[in-house]
Amino acid sequence: MSAEKINDISAGGYFSIPGGLGFPVTTKIFTPEKFTEEQKMAVETAKKFIEKDVLPKLAAIDEQKGDYGVTVGLLKKVADMGFLGTDVAEEYGGSGLDFATAMCVSEVFGAGGSWAVSWAAHSGIGTHPILFFGTEAQKKKYLPKLVSGEWTGAFGATEPEAGSDLYGAKTKATLSPDGKSYILNGNKTFISNSGFANLFVILAKVDGDPKKSACFIVEKGAPGFTVGKEESKMGISGSSTCPLNLVDVQVPAENLLGEIGKGIHIIFNTLNIGRLKLGAMTTGSGKHVINDAVKYAVERKQFGIPVAQFGMIKEKLANMVVGAWMTESAVYRTAGMVEEKFKATDFKDFAQTLDALREYEIECAILKVAGSEMFWYVADENVQVHGGYGYTKDYLAERYLRDARINRIFEGTNEINRLTAILNMLERAGKGKLPLAKAGAALAAQLEEGSAEELPDEKLAAQAELVNGMKKMFFVAGGRVLEKFPVREKIVAQQEILRRLSDMLILMYLAESGLLRAKEHGGEIQEAIVKLYVQNAAMETEKLAKEVLAYLEEGDMLKSYLGRLKRLARPLANNLVDPVSLQRKIADKLIETKKYFL
Ligand SMILES: Cc1cc2nc3c(=O)[nH]c(=O)nc-3n(C[C@H](O)[C@H](O)[C@H](O)COP(=O)(O)OP(=O)(O)OC[C@H]3O[C@@H](n4cnc5c(N)ncnc54)[C@H](O)[C@@H]3O)c2cc1C
Repeated sequence: MSAEKINDISAGGYFSIPGGLGFPVTTKIFTPEKFTEEQKMAVETAKKFIEKDVLPKLAAIDEQKGDYGVTVGLLKKVADMGFLGTDVAEEYGGSGLDFATAMCVSEVFGAGGSWAVSWAAHSGIGTHPILFFGTEAQKKKYLPKLVSGEWTGAFGATEPEAGSDLYGAKTKATLSPDGKSYILNGNKTFISNSGFANLFVILAKVDGDPKKSACFIVEKGAPGFTVGKEESKMGISGSSTCPLNLVDVQVPAENLLGEIGKGIHIIFNTLNIGRLKLGAMTTGSGKHVINDAVKYAVERKQFGIPVAQFGMIKEKLANMVVGAWMTESAVYRTAGMVEEKFKATDFKDFAQTLDALREYEIECAILKVAGSEMFWYVADENVQVHGGYGYTKDYLAERYLRDARINRIFEGTNEINRLTAILNMLERAGKGKLPLAKAGAALAAQLEEGSAEELPDEKLAAQAELVNGMKKMFFVAGGRVLEKFPVREKIVAQQEILRRLSDMLILMYLAESGLLRAKEHGGEIQEAIVKLYVQNAAMETEKLAKEVLAYLEEGDMLKSYLGRLKRLARPLANNLVDPVSLQRKIADKLIETKKYFL
């Protein structure tokens, strides 16, 4: 096989879709190794704050009652450091830094447990709708207050009967007879920061008409607006989560955000950025918990040696590092792409703003799922590394596990995000932006011809070949799904199949992101990480593709498809790496440094 063929993972190849799922024409992707001096400084400052001001107060944050004084105080403190408006323009009181810097800060703050949730809800979904969609007057009035920490923001979309199905939200807005205000009636539930927030972005429907969804800025204290009792939660206990009740709440007409009929788009597209930031925050949380795991594992002795020296514990530690590093690679790759898109957008035109926020919605959904599941894995294995002590409240491991769980639920559950990723992908394919079915057919012919087995003498050449193979397996399975269910209504009824395709997408995106990063910046450990991840991902992808095809086909047709998969999976057998030695290498380095070291 030629070098060009191998490199088609980065030159677009079959999978190139303009502006869609990554796979950029250039191999150069944004990575932590490319942080600017300014970004490095932001990371250092944020780290110092988390270590000095938040981590020692985790218990105090969880136990605060009433006014959330500790949380609000810490929000004010980071406001002074410029971290409530990292990427907000200076004219509105922000720091005027770029989106990628805001992502770096999000990653570091991820370690801050409940406080980090309050910070993210405020500076993300509580502020972003106004930053992205506000009129000049709304931005001037509200952003300086939010960015300075004088006010705290919240985002009210979910309702008791409309969680995943936000289209089903019933909160109603009616224009007053004099046209000066909207009257809001309805109920919201699970609203982060609501116990202390001053400003709420509320999703409603004008006249209850599903075609007239709209967002409104509602200020605390508006007559008829009440915040209900705090939820008693499994984790993130120091964050505020309450229901809201709106009875004839009068909102000035100028507090309509964006356009009537576009409220749901404001919510969903603001969430895209929230999901990407959640990917960064869970990456940071994951690294933080890895530090906890290795610290304990080297100190705790059984059978006369530290438990870190046992192979099964090393395996866990290595897998944690692999998950965190691969997720981080995809997070910053996406941050770089979003950053480019944002630079080319002035956020003055509604349609253009929506377009900018929507461009990488597939990647944002992927990272929400990948980050939250990596963090959950790390937090769970950390409890295991701690043994019985991990199950007690004397150690932080149990808190980390409880705090980690919510990430798979909010910002859209992982089921919804899996659907978002794959349905958008298939929709783009259906619109001809991605020639999935055509590529599948072309591939079939190529596979019949067979391919040469020789790999170029390049770093990670076998892994590049495997990533190509994963993409092709996706084409074979996804292309066949599109042929069998060409209409959206038919595809959406095949959720188990969509889940499998979505998992293939997640594996591909992370595998390719880590590969591209390691090719440019990788040392021995990074290469070991990529080898391990890509091999597992390719095996899992083959299994998922087989399951999809087994559902779609039978008899000779199934055999023929399985034959194609087998040919695509050939590089797996030809280039099998020894996972045990690689895991030991990674774990030994972690044990030697006693903290996440990459
Ligand atoms: C601590 C916390 C903080 C939150 N903060 C906010 C906030 O600040 N603002 C806000 O607006 N909301 C917030 N939420 C709400 C959160 O976003 C929702 O809980 C979440 O979107 C899921 O909605 P639901 O709880 O009604 O679950 P449901 O929608 O009832 O889902 C139940 C189960 O069914 C699955 N499911 C639902 N629909 C489908 C489908 N079509 N296909 C496959 N599976 C499906 C779900 O994945 C889930 O597993 C918060 C929630 C919590 C717990």
